[in-house]
Amino acid sequence: MTDYAREEHHEFLTATEQALADPQLQSMLGRLGETLGARNRQAFAQLPGADALRWEAKRIKDQALAQLDQLLDQLARQIEARGGHVHWAADGAEARKIILSILEQHGVRKVVKSKSMTTEEIHLNPALEDSGIQVVETDFGEYIIQLAGQRPSHLVAPAIHMTVEQIAQVLSQESPEPLPPEPETLTRFARQKLRQHFATAQAGISGVNFAVAETGTVVIISNEGNARLTTTVPPLHIAVMGMEKVIPRMEHLPVFLKVLARAATGQKLSVYTSLITGPRRPEELDGPEEFHLVILDNGRSRILGGPLRESLFCIRCGACLNACPVYRNVGGHAYGGVYAGPIGAVLTPLYDGLDVNHHLPHASSLCGACQAACPVRIAIPELLIRLREQLVERSQRVPRRERAAYGLWAWMLRRPWAYRLATWLTTRSLGRWRRNRWLTRLPGKLHGWTAQRDFPAPAPERFRDWWQRQGKHVPAREKQPGSA
Ligand code: SF4
Repeated sequence: MTDYAREEHHEFLTATEQALADPQLQSMLGRLGETLGARNRQAFAQLPGADALRWEAKRIKDQALAQLDQLLDQLARQIEARGGHVHWAADGAEARKIILSILEQHGVRKVVKSKSMTTEEIHLNPALEDSGIQVVETDFGEYIIQLAGQRPSHLVAPAIHMTVEQIAQVLSQESPEPLPPEPETLTRFARQKLRQHFATAQAGISGVNFAVAETGTVVIISNEGNARLTTTVPPLHIAVMGMEKVIPRMEHLPVFLKVLARAATGQKLSVYTSLITGPRRPEELDGPEEFHLVILDNGRSRILGGPLRESLFCIRCGACLNACPVYRNVGGHAYGGVYAGPIGAVLTPLYDGLDVNHHLPHASSLCGACQAACPVRIAIPELLIRLREQLVERSQRVPRRERAAYGLWAWMLRRPWAYRLATWLTTRSLGRWRRNRWLTRLPGKLHGWTAQRDFPAPAPERFRDWWQRQGKHVPAREKQPGSA
């Protein structure tokens, strides 16, 4: 069986260097903070009680995960009671198998898809194409990157790394004549093309933003209307969701609708919010004849009981990407996996393996901007530190010299006389080289740091020496040689 996930891994450090050397990408990323990032901050600033709402969103997620088994069971019963079908997939391979088997039973040759990171996570498109099924992405950004043969570079704006000229070039492949780089013309062209696909596809595949256990309703949010066409025009609808998307009751949904739209794009509400409860009923005018929900585990139940549980709160809004100084310099493709940015640096190692993604937990300055932007207040820096701890426990990813350096550091911190000696030596060596409070060139291997930025210089005098010079008292404990 093809291992679609393994085929994707690449060298993170090389990818970041390439991204940093790409002027076009740098100019696109440079605008991110002033567009999506700024809109997010403004939208929350204008919302009364925004802080309380974000805490409430976190509380609901926490509560839902605490009773995940019962909620998923309730969701499945409600969907089946309304004529829908529910499937359970332990991993990506099983999810692909289930979806392929449903499509084969119905003789499907063409599928339209609305934007879904979960189907990206299970690498569904290449599996369907390998089985001879045509797949058409219908979100405008996804359509562009599908034609370009790329992966999304952002959770909500998959083609954000491309210029309008590049998009015109990509769409021109589908046009009898070259298209001009004008957003209106390009959008009109894509709309006409996609309408033909909606009308001729035999199945629609979507993701799920939230699933309400109480009513058996799946909620799909979009700004382009393509999700509504994907889920209502073809006779067969398959929705794919990660098991953490379930929420207990319908009254919880508005909390998430308010925070998701604001965090993702700065809107008060997304343009289309579709609530789907089973297949079309006899008295209804539209909707699919058959509805299937595939509930994906893919490592989530393992994460649920561990220290990285909070990563399951993520509602895929992309706000942490817009806030992150690393993402804003290297873009989404450098991360190598399906999920990019700070939350991608947590999710990709969790879903695809820590060993093959060992650089990602270090792809953060731990500045906390991601946590501040997150509408469900996920402590992303803490999760990254947990993953770093796991790497250290496995040891093989920590170079011998680094281990020796930290061992020496720990030894020194346990011995005050050694600590005092080291700080005395530091101020008398590095402290003397300071120029305007910064060291601009460090010797040997340390040169890597100052090649890109300056290093904050230690003071020319230790605080304890200055304190004593002022005639102040140094605690007796400090004076005891060898005391801890
Ligand atoms: S971690 Fe938070 S900010 Fe980042 S995508 Fe998930 S919900 Fe949005």
